[in-house]
Amino acid sequence: MRFIYPKMPFVLLFFILYPGICAVAQHQSGYCHIPQSHIEGKTTVADPAEDNYDIRYVKLNLNMTNASTVLSGDATTGALVVSASLPVYVFELDSAYNIDSVLIDGVSQPVTSAASLRSVSLATALPGGSMFTAQVFYHGACTTGMGYFGINSVASGIAGQNVTYTMNEPYYASEWWPCKQSLHDKIDSSDVWITVPGNLKVGSNGLLDTVMVIDTGHVRYQWKERYPIDYYLISVAIYPYTEYAYYMHFTGSTDSMLIKNYVYDNTALVSYQPVLDNLAAMINYFSSLYGRYPFWKEKYGISQAPIGGGGMENETMTTIGSTDPVIMAHELGHQWFGDNVTCGTWSDITMNEGYASYTEDLYRDHFNSHADMISDMQSKQSSVEGWGPGTIYVTDTTSIPTLFSGTFTYNKGACVLHMLRHVIDNDSAFYAVYRAYQSAFSGGTGTILDFRNTLKSQLGSTINGINIDSFYNQWYFEEGLPVYNINWNQRGNDVWLQITQNTTVPASVSLFNIPIDVQFQSGSGDTTIRVIIDSNAEFLHFTWANSGISQVVVDPDSWMVYQLDSITMDSTLNIRQTTRQALKIEPNPAATQWTVNGLMPGTDLQLTDLTAREVWRGNSGTSGQVVVPAQDLAAGFYILKAGNDAITEIYKLVKK
Ligand SMILES: [Zn+2]
Repeated sequence: MRFIYPKMPFVLLFFILYPGICAVAQHQSGYCHIPQSHIEGKTTVADPAEDNYDIRYVKLNLNMTNASTVLSGDATTGALVVSASLPVYVFELDSAYNIDSVLIDGVSQPVTSAASLRSVSLATALPGGSMFTAQVFYHGACTTGMGYFGINSVASGIAGQNVTYTMNEPYYASEWWPCKQSLHDKIDSSDVWITVPGNLKVGSNGLLDTVMVIDTGHVRYQWKERYPIDYYLISVAIYPYTEYAYYMHFTGSTDSMLIKNYVYDNTALVSYQPVLDNLAAMINYFSSLYGRYPFWKEKYGISQAPIGGGGMENETMTTIGSTDPVIMAHELGHQWFGDNVTCGTWSDITMNEGYASYTEDLYRDHFNSHADMISDMQSKQSSVEGWGPGTIYVTDTTSIPTLFSGTFTYNKGACVLHMLRHVIDNDSAFYAVYRAYQSAFSGGTGTILDFRNTLKSQLGSTINGINIDSFYNQWYFEEGLPVYNINWNQRGNDVWLQITQNTTVPASVSLFNIPIDVQFQSGSGDTTIRVIIDSNAEFLHFTWANSGISQVVVDPDSWMVYQLDSITMDSTLNIRQTTRQALKIEPNPAATQWTVNGLMPGTDLQLTDLTAREVWRGNSGTSGQVVVPAQDLAAGFYILKAGNDAITEIYKLVKK
């Protein structure tokens, strides 16, 4: 899902848009019970007994309108008993609804309720391995009071017309249908049948099988979804919609696919049509990166609804309130990351939102310009760099604002993918990992570590000098950012560079092992070098024909997330590695050799006797360490000069 003001933390957005939510909820408590678990969130199914069965099929058969959230009808669940036996069938349905009856395999069974948790006691326990059908007849109305979540019937903005729409993520399917809210138990196939007044249309998942005329005043929209679907992606949107549909063709194939959209009216269509017409190109482009659009045998489309200029990636039919192509790209990206491969746990929500957020930037790069992408990446990076500690991996999934943190789940998630792409430094290899992951976990769920393991199996445990386990631990599970201090110096063709890395949360990560690009600019050209950071102080020497460095720029192409403390031209850099420490020379006195440590690479050295006669000359090369031979020298005092004509340090050495 994506809402407007994406750079704002979600909790702020939430309360700006919905002041007084709690008060509203309390006043309406007799109308629609809001369990505490829905306010605080929860981590898994409401009751472990729900895991005693594996859902294979769901069919909703409901009477609804666009005018209110009142509904009635039945929901059928086909499931397999995966425990030794099933004496009680447990599911969730908001307590606002009255359950008229529950049939298990066609036989009515008693149901008891504890708030939204419903338990059906079976006269005879079902044996393990058996299939059963549970049909729940119910009626009522529920308004969550939780903004866009759950089921809503709200003004469309067109006089006198409400839209009724649903948004289940993360824990709100039970606000309108009897369900098991488990990420892992994907529903293998589903049907959504909604009977509405004849002037209305209903958008939902999969293909529209038929529109059945029920009576003179009512029609039934019969949608069928034959791809697996997670409970939170089943949706409806109800309105006297105007349909805008066409067929797209997949690049390099004769296959085509329906794109079917519902917008309010012809005026809305004028606004939406450019982006809807571009959906075909977007689907083809993302298919080229991620693998073919996963639901290509059915459709893609949108249903318009007033959800704050944002969108919700309901499978094959996004519910959206925006014509912004970037929002459209975000929700389309979710069809791969979120819908086809759903986050394996809510802690891994960035597998949905981080990937969809980075899809925004891939859209910008391909359809707008690279500069547009970089500008947006910089904005995302800034939001992360300015925020402070926290992890992408969500440790408290009871907090919905934390789950949907704009900074961590969305922006940092996108930024880390951008950094990973920089580490790999090969776009075809980068996207091949995406496709391998989509293929391996298609129709199921995947975690941060599942993607990491796919990456390692594709490209190895170490990529361009970066240990992938370390990268993932540091960026997904640990906190903080690297902080750089950069010193540089140039003498003639010699350039020295010192990169010191501290971190914002050293107790969590003391060193980020990552690449960083440093660009040297001069009047006669620029050069960029990539430094793999594997110690807190990196020293480099290289030769560059362009004299007169005018500026040194860190990360000129905006790949990385970091803080920059300083960039300083330091004229002493060519002598030793740290400006506060003397060279380390040992042993001294020496019999056969002195070993000099702590030199900047490329430092010249000269050894003379007390008459200033040169007895040895050398250079530290790339290592920073030099061995000065002593075995052929007479016993006595010698002078070691380190540096060059500008800066020289002098040490007294003793030959035994
Ligand atoms: Zn999203």
